[in-house]
Amino acid sequence: MNHGHVERLREKLSNLAISDYHGLRSPGLTCYLNSVLQVLFMTEEFREAIKRCHDEDSAPIDPLLRKLFDDLAKSRAKTDNIVKKLGITDAYKQRDAAEYFEKILRLSGTEASKIFKGELNHKTTCVKCKDRSDSRTLFWFLPLIVKDSRHQTYSVKNGLAVFFKQEKLCGNNKIYCKHCDKKQDADIDCEVTLEPNILTLLLKRFCFDSKRRCYVKLLCQVDVPKTLHLASCRYDLYALVHHSGNLTGGHYTAEIKSFENGEWYHFNDDIVERVKNPLFGAGNSSLKSSSAYLLMYRKVNTEKPDEADQETAF
Ligand SMILES: [Zn+2]
Repeated sequence: MNHGHVERLREKLSNLAISDYHGLRSPGLTCYLNSVLQVLFMTEEFREAIKRCHDEDSAPIDPLLRKLFDDLAKSRAKTDNIVKKLGITDAYKQRDAAEYFEKILRLSGTEASKIFKGELNHKTTCVKCKDRSDSRTLFWFLPLIVKDSRHQTYSVKNGLAVFFKQEKLCGNNKIYCKHCDKKQDADIDCEVTLEPNILTLLLKRFCFDSKRRCYVKLLCQVDVPKTLHLASCRYDLYALVHHSGNLTGGHYTAEIKSFENGEWYHFNDDIVERVKNPLFGAGNSSLKSSSAYLLMYRKVNTEKPDEADQETAF
């Protein structure tokens, strides 16, 4: 092989590395933001919507995200401008990734943010006269209350079922019924009235411990399913934001499946590595994790129901 051939081969090989991804260089310790930014970059519909935005008609953060995504497509990118836009003055203070995920979506244009937006309807029914009132709310993520148990694995599937379980209001919690003109027992049912394209679940690991009278982080193991069902839609897992460590001194990273090559990558601030062992081993329909915090599922358009579709949907 002559010198020219070797050079061409080398060039070809370096071009192949385009399928790999780059890290983020940030001022201070903003891993909570880096993880979320990488998820947004790796969400095809979001990246495309940001690419389409025009400076003159775009929301406050769209041009900054477009610049960041352009940089990130080529090499390691800096987040300084986004950190500034989000009003982060102390870049060394640990913050909540879920809070910043929501902040970015609120500052993004409608085209981009609607990808993550869903709607719930809470139906309150008087048990006496069956009079019903509806209350609709939009959501970016569904918060699931994680049960603190050192010995049992928390099931995300069950957690979602609990979220949509009927609630009964009675005793001190009775509601005033206009029709009966008095306080009555009532049932509250929650239903999805708009399925988001990307369904995000928040595992509430940070919570108030009433016995110890302080905030704690729950370290329990969770069972994360590969596929979920919401209303009549099927969703496949494509990203996890992890939080390791404790309440005050932890670290966020993300594991994301590339829509470009189907491989999983681990994003840890400025380092990105391909995940060598498959997240879902042979035949496994779920994975166990004691650090999963945010889960992102993509809606899948399926014509014919598979065997998983026989399971309960909400
Ligand atoms: Zn009534």
